[in-house]
Amino acid sequence: MEELDTKTLRKYDSDYLWHPFTQMSEWEGAENLVITRGEGSYIIDSEGNRYLDGVAAIWTNVHGHCRREINEAIKEQVDRLEHSTLLGLTNDRAALLAKRLVDIAPPALCKVFYSDNGSTAVEIGVKMAFQYQNQTGHPEKTKFISFTNAYHGDTVGSMSVGGIDIYHEVYAPLLFPTIKAPSPYCYRCTLTEDRDCTRCGMLCLKELERLMEQHAHELAGLVIEPAVQGAGGMIVHPEGFLKRVRELCDRFDVLMIADEVAVGFGRTGAMFACGKAAITPDIMALSKGISAGYLPLAATLTTRKVYDAFIGSYAELKTFFHGHTFTGNPIACAAALASLDLFESDKLLEALVPKIAYLKERLQKLAGLPHVGDVRQEGMIGGIELVVDKETRQPYHWEERVGVRVCLEARKHGLFLRPLGNIIVIFPPLAISLNELALLMDGIEASIRAVTE
Ligand code: PMP
Repeated sequence: MEELDTKTLRKYDSDYLWHPFTQMSEWEGAENLVITRGEGSYIIDSEGNRYLDGVAAIWTNVHGHCRREINEAIKEQVDRLEHSTLLGLTNDRAALLAKRLVDIAPPALCKVFYSDNGSTAVEIGVKMAFQYQNQTGHPEKTKFISFTNAYHGDTVGSMSVGGIDIYHEVYAPLLFPTIKAPSPYCYRCTLTEDRDCTRCGMLCLKELERLMEQHAHELAGLVIEPAVQGAGGMIVHPEGFLKRVRELCDRFDVLMIADEVAVGFGRTGAMFACGKAAITPDIMALSKGISAGYLPLAATLTTRKVYDAFIGSYAELKTFFHGHTFTGNPIACAAALASLDLFESDKLLEALVPKIAYLKERLQKLAGLPHVGDVRQEGMIGGIELVVDKETRQPYHWEERVGVRVCLEARKHGLFLRPLGNIIVIFPPLAISLNELALLMDGIEASIRAVTE
C-alpha cells in the first residue's frame, strides 16, 4: 500500500474525514497525531513517536496492540473465510465462540445473539425485553428504567436509555421516554466523611425501589452499566449495589439488562462485573474487549427463559426480527477466540491483581494533590476528578477544558489519554506491564501538576 507523508495524511484527514464527538472547526488544520502502528501498550505515529495507550483504543484493548497470536488467528481466518452470513447459515467460528462465551458467562446465560458494536448490543437487549414481555402475556410492560448519567451508546434506542444531557439533550424529541433513576453515586457525599458513597448509594436504591414499585405494571426492563458508569465519569457503584438491583428486578418482574460493553472481559479484575457481583442478569450486552479491541464485534446474551418466549410456529410471528449484515463475522469471531485463549495461557486475570493494587496505591497518592477532588477505581479503571477547590469540590468551568489540557500535556510524557470532561481516565490495555503502568501514572501526575498548580 502507498506510504504517505504526515503532511499529506493530515490534509486528507482534514479534507475528507468527519471525526466522532469532535468539533471539526478545532480539528481541521491542527497538528493531529496520525497513528500508523501499534506495539504492545504503545501506539506509534507517522513520525515514529511512541505513546503509551492510556485509553486502550477507546476502552477496547486487552492483550496489547498487534499481539502475535491474535494477528495470526486473523490472518489464518482471512485465508479460510472472510464472511458469509448468519441469516440462513452458520459458520464454525461464530458457533464455537457462542459456546465459549456461554462457558465463561454468569450461570444461566445460555444464548448468544451477535451484532457489531456496543450500541446495537444494548439496543438488541432492549428490543428483546420489550418483545419478551409482549409474548409472555404482558403487552402493557413496554417501558424501561435506566439511570441518570448512564451511557449505553449513540443509536436512537441506546440513547433513549442513556442519561447524559450534554450528549442526549439535542436528540430528546427523537428518543422514546424512559423512567430515570438517580445515578448510583451522589456528588454531595464526598463533602461529608462518607467517601465510599455507601450512604448515597443506598439513598439511590431507595429511590430506585420507589420508582420500580410505582411503575412495575408498565416496566419491561431495567438497563444498567454494572460496577461503573463509564462515560458518565467513571462513577463506581457502592458495594452491593448490583445485587440489590437484581433483587428489585426479581421482585417487580422486570428484566435486568446489564451493559458490560465497557467493563466486560477482565476490566474489573473478573471476567464480567456481574460475575464478580455474583448475579446473573436476564440479558447481558458485550462488545469492546470481546475481540480484544481488534474488530467490531458484539454479543447480547440471554437466558433460556427469555429465549423460549420467542419459540413458536412460523405463523405465530414470535421471531426476533433483528439482524445486521456482519452479524457473527468469522474474522471478528476468530479474533475473539484467540483472545479467550490468551486469557487462559497468559493467566491474565491473575496477572491483574498486582496491577490493580499498584493503581490503587498511585491513585491514593494523587488524591492528595491540591486540585484533585476525587479519585475512583474499579479494577483496571481509574478516574481522577480535577476541581478548582478541593474543600468545596467546585468543578472547573467546562470551557476551561482542564481535562483536555492535562491530556495534551501528557503527550510530552509519551502518553495518549482522553478525558471525560474534568475527569482524567485511566483505562490501559490489561496486558500493560507494571513498569509501563508506573510510567503512565508518573506522566499523569506530572501533567496534572503542570496544568493545575
Ligand atoms: N455501553 C457502554 C457502557 C459504553 O461504554 C459504550 C461505548 N463507550 C457503549 C455502550 C457503546 O458502544 P459503541 O461505541 O461500540 O456503540
